[in-house]
Amino acid sequence: MKIAEQAASRIKEGNTVVFTGSGVSAESGIPTFRGKDGLWEKYDPARYVTMPQVLYNLLEDPQDIAGFIIEFYALLNAARPNSAHEVIADLEKKRLVTGVITQNIDNLHQAAGSGNVCELHGNAFEISCIKCGFKKKRSMDDIKGFVNGFQGLNKRWDLLKYIFRYMGKCPRCNTRLRPNVVLFGEMLPSSEIEKSTELIEDCSCLVIVGASGIVYPASSIPFEAKRKGAFLIEVNIEPAYASIADLVIQSPAASAFEEISRYL
Ligand code: NAD
Repeated sequence: MKIAEQAASRIKEGNTVVFTGSGVSAESGIPTFRGKDGLWEKYDPARYVTMPQVLYNLLEDPQDIAGFIIEFYALLNAARPNSAHEVIADLEKKRLVTGVITQNIDNLHQAAGSGNVCELHGNAFEISCIKCGFKKKRSMDDIKGFVNGFQGLNKRWDLLKYIFRYMGKCPRCNTRLRPNVVLFGEMLPSSEIEKSTELIEDCSCLVIVGASGIVYPASSIPFEAKRKGAFLIEVNIEPAYASIADLVIQSPAASAFEEISRYL
């Protein structure tokens, strides 16, 4: 039996959770951060991954951070779900998948039709209040307008004023709002941790797609599922969980799910 057929036959038993990293969206046109052609090859991660670094960079070199934001949002805006997102959403509709736990902030699982999505690192199309948890959706057009407004703002205070005005204040507690994206060193949202813990607690199979296993604490999820007795399937061009996975499909995510779906 082919590996894709074996994966499909396990998924058909139901009670599966899908855990995704940036690799699931690579074929949608959003490069992963690490690896060949990753965004970190072009931009120095030391300048963007923690809030103090982002704020320092905003003051020191606003056009540099503006360049990164413009480029990353252009990729997010242009991206559409690929076959992997679509098959995963379809499996939820067939009640074979109970939910998706994602490290991605690109909203592509929801765009494909997945309903139960746990976003460990937030959502780039939302702004939120760190004090009371209030969240507000921003449409793609709205974000496009905001990002385009960066062009030509060469003075740091003009840029900061522009960003603060756009984010606004929380209508519930008056705290300044911020993008709903978890940076390195920040806590994951407790609501999403609870949701992912419940999903892992109850699943009997976990499909890990395009996750490097480097970003903690999300990287511990497959180990937790294994500890609870779940069957692990990994899909990755460079598998990261091969030592604990029961099945490894070494292939790009979209073609792997296209093949799996032939046997469902
Ligand atoms: P990651 O943990 O998300 O790892 C990426 C993994 O994807 C690697 O193991 C790589 O081998 C694999 N991969 C690459 N192309 C693939 C493909 N076509 N099919 C299957 N697997 C593939 O690490 P990262 O990219 O450094 O990201 C770190 C964090 O940054 C993420 O956890 C996420 O929060 C955020 N991020 C999000 C997005 C997004 O929302 N699309 C993109 C980049 C980074």
